[in-house]
Amino acid sequence: MLQETAFICPMLCPKGLRNGPCGSGSSESCCVEPSRPCIWHVIYHRAEQLGRLGRLLEVQAPLDWTLVGGETWGTILSEAQDRNLLSPSHLLRWTGWREEVDSLFRDMRQPDWWQGDDVYHPPVSTSPASSLQARLEHGTFVITAEVSPPTGADPKTVEITASRLRGKIHAANLTQNPMATPRMSSLACSLLLARCGIEPIMQLTARDFNRSALQAEVLGASALGIHNILCLTGDPPTAGDKPAGGLPFDLDATQMLWILRRMRDEYRFLDGREITDPPKLFLGAAGSPSDSNLWHESIRLEKKINAGAQFIQTQLVYDVRVLSQWLEALDRRNLLGKVHILVGIGPIRSSKTARFIQDHIPDVFIPPAFIQKLEKSPEPEETGFEFTLDLMQKMKAVPGIRGIHIMSMSWENVIPRLLREASLDNQLLSET
Ligand code: SF4
Repeated sequence: MLQETAFICPMLCPKGLRNGPCGSGSSESCCVEPSRPCIWHVIYHRAEQLGRLGRLLEVQAPLDWTLVGGETWGTILSEAQDRNLLSPSHLLRWTGWREEVDSLFRDMRQPDWWQGDDVYHPPVSTSPASSLQARLEHGTFVITAEVSPPTGADPKTVEITASRLRGKIHAANLTQNPMATPRMSSLACSLLLARCGIEPIMQLTARDFNRSALQAEVLGASALGIHNILCLTGDPPTAGDKPAGGLPFDLDATQMLWILRRMRDEYRFLDGREITDPPKLFLGAAGSPSDSNLWHESIRLEKKINAGAQFIQTQLVYDVRVLSQWLEALDRRNLLGKVHILVGIGPIRSSKTARFIQDHIPDVFIPPAFIQKLEKSPEPEETGFEFTLDLMQKMKAVPGIRGIHIMSMSWENVIPRLLREASLDNQLLSET
């Protein structure tokens, strides 16, 4: 696959990602090994210099672990021999050699059980898999909020959160082991929340699921009535509890989307077995409007959308201009009509929190003037509230934005007031 990755081996990525960078790296440092750059940033820059960025769009297969450590060139030569590409007579009158060599390499990197490509695969069914999907397709401006699962086994914790949010949001995201630290599973929390009358968006991370576990989890979720799935790569195990778990990952977010879309639309497991009762799924992915290179970010998102993403929930955004520039980059790649976009909003109540986010969460830009205002304010909570309210109203008016995703960062009480003063609760009340 080196031809597709600007001749740089992507397996230098500690997470083993084969379809682009995780959201935590930069051209200066990798999130697992900070002393060196993210190899995927190096690949994108080299591909740009070589005019090969378009080749990064092909969805690459997960590793066939039975081949790891084996001899690649020997296999390629033997395949070339089988195709009679190396015989002297063939070599002498070899026209169209480039196409034949390309075809050889493509067949090697895209085995029958995968067959990845670089084209958009719209969902086969036009009937919505969930109420969230139906609302978005109907044109409702949607409100979602992130909920962190509890660190214990008491279901009441989830029920209390649900009682605060019920009737105020359309759906809630249940994170999966945030910061690589174990909590109640996203599946269990999703079910508890659904029982309390809130539609769940189950987050799954490649860090926590290998290919078998992913397929099993999603079949189970669909059977339990959980149909919204957000596919993420996940923080590295080194970010969480010690001793850290294993690297590399078995899958990445793009591969998760590819596998789940095929389960839903082609009724097939990854190994080709038929699924008699396929899962109903509305698939999502994450986006980074504050990415330092929007051209690269738009290519990464195009790949996820081609693979199966139907909605995007973005990283936190604190500047409407940043959001508009990101939307323009997506529009240039003709992506806006293919996906529903929910913009990430994070109310901040102190300058300390603002600085923490700025320093620790990659790809988030907070305007320095807002941080200074928080520092000087006698009532920083109120200052943070007013800033967020103004931001929400501006975001709502941006063409292409279909909803707001609130990440309240332990300030959940602010959500009802925000929605009320942004006149977003009226719409919810009129629906119920
Ligand atoms: S782990 Fe993330 S930051 Fe590090 S090389 Fe891989 S994609 Fe880049």
